[in-house]
Amino acid sequence: MIIKISKEKKGVKIIFVQKDSRSKKISFLSKGIGNISEIKEYLKLYNFEANKNQSILFNINKKKYLVFSIEKNYSLDTLRKSASKIFKELKKNKEKEAHLIIPNEKEEEIIAIIEGANLSDYKFDKYISKKEKDINLNITLDISKNFEKTIKDTITICNNVKETRDLVNENANLITPIYLEKISKKLAKDKKLKIKVLNEKNLKKENLGLIEAVSKGSPKTPARLIIVEYKGDPKSKEKIALVGKGLTFDTGGLNLKPTNYIEDMKIDMAGAATVYGIFKSAVELKLKKNLFLVIPSTENAISESSYKPGDVIKSYSGKTVEITNTDAEGRLILADALSYIQKKEKPTLIIDFATLTGASMVALGMETAAVFGNDNNTYKKLKKISKENGEKIWKMPIFKDHENVLKSNIADTLNAAIGKGRFGGASSAAAFLKGFIEKDVKWLHFDIAGPAYSSSENSYIPINGTGRYVRLIVEYLKNN
Ligand SMILES: [Zn+2]
Repeated sequence: MIIKISKEKKGVKIIFVQKDSRSKKISFLSKGIGNISEIKEYLKLYNFEANKNQSILFNINKKKYLVFSIEKNYSLDTLRKSASKIFKELKKNKEKEAHLIIPNEKEEEIIAIIEGANLSDYKFDKYISKKEKDINLNITLDISKNFEKTIKDTITICNNVKETRDLVNENANLITPIYLEKISKKLAKDKKLKIKVLNEKNLKKENLGLIEAVSKGSPKTPARLIIVEYKGDPKSKEKIALVGKGLTFDTGGLNLKPTNYIEDMKIDMAGAATVYGIFKSAVELKLKKNLFLVIPSTENAISESSYKPGDVIKSYSGKTVEITNTDAEGRLILADALSYIQKKEKPTLIIDFATLTGASMVALGMETAAVFGNDNNTYKKLKKISKENGEKIWKMPIFKDHENVLKSNIADTLNAAIGKGRFGGASSAAAFLKGFIEKDVKWLHFDIAGPAYSSSENSYIPINGTGRYVRLIVEYLKNN
C-alpha cells in the first residue's frame, strides 16, 4: 500500500458521512466533493441509511464512490477501525487507486486513518505455497503538504509494528537468540549505535546465573544478552531501558507444558520483539531520548543438562533463587537482565515487556496488558495515550502477600509460588521482578501474555502476532 499527499483524485473516492439520530438526515463530513446532490440520490436509491460503520460502493457515470458512515463523536480508535474496514472493502473489490477525503484535517485523525489502513495491510503468508495475489493499493489524500512528515513517521512506526508481528510469527527454529543478535547487530551497524552482546561464555564469566541456568537445556542454541544504546539526547541525564523477554521457545523445561499449551510457545519472545519494534522506531524517527534496548534471550528446552526443580541458583545480583517450577523461566532471565543493566548503565526508567503469566490472561482477558511497577506518573501518561490508541492497559497491584508467597526455606526467594500461593500469579511474578529493581529506579512491567497474540483477525489486529504496544510506547517517547 502506498499512501501519499496528492491533488490527483484517481480511483474510488472515499467519502465520510454521518447520520443525525433525530432527523435521520445524512450530513457529509468530507468536504469539496462537488456533486453531493447526485450522490445523495444514489444513496436513497440504494436505501443507504448511514447506520454506524455502514459502507456502500457504487458508480456514477464511471466514477466510483465509497461512502462510509461514521458515528457521531467518534474516537480516534473508531476512525482507525473505520479506515481498516474501508481498506478491506477496497481490497475485496480489487481496487488499485483510491482518493480519501478526510473528515477533519487534524494531525491525530490523519495518523489514525493511516494506521488503520496500513496495519490492516498485513499477512504472514511466507509458508503458504499458493498465495493470494496481492494488489498494491495507492491511496491519495488531498491535505496540506505540512503533513508529509506525519505520514512518513506514521508509516515508519507501522512498518516496525509489522516487523514485530513477523518476529513473533516466524518459526522458533529460525528466531533463535543468535538471530535476535544478528538483527540487533545489523540495526546497530546501520544506525551507528553502540552494541554489546554477552555470549554463553561471557554470561558464565560475568555470573548471570539465572540466564545461564535456563539456557542449560539447549546447549546447541546458546543464550545471549543483547544491549544496544541510542543516545538521542546526549545532554539529558534521563536514560530509559527497554527490556524484553526473548524466550525463543518455551517447552516449560522439565515442568514440561502439556499438549494444547505448548503449540504456540514460539511467541514467548514477543516481549523482545516489542521492545525491538519500539527501539527501532525511536531510532528511525530520531527521537530525542536516551534508550537502551535490552534483550535476554534463550530457549527453555529439555536435555540431560536442563536446570531442575529444587535447584538453588545464584543470580547476577547475588540473590539466590530456589526453582520450584522450570516453566517460570521468563522472570529468571528478566531478573538477571534487569540487574545487569541497572549495574552497568544506571537507567532512570525501566520498561519491561514479557509474555509472563497465564494468570494475567485469567485476570484481564486476551486484549489487555497487565501493568505493574512503581512509576504511577508514567503509567498515567501511558493510560491517557492508550485510551485513544486502542492498545489497552490496566494497572495491577504488588501487595505484601504477593511478595510473601515467594519465601523460601533454603534460598532468598522462590522463582514461583506453590500451593495456594499460586493464585494471583501475575502479581507474584511481578513481585519476583520487583525484588531485582534497585531503590529509586522507576520501573513499569508489562505482562503481555494475552495481547501479544490474537487467535482471530479483528479489524487492524491480524491473527497471531499483534505488534501491540509498539505504537503506545513510541507515542509516549515522542511527547514526553
Ligand atoms: Zn515458561
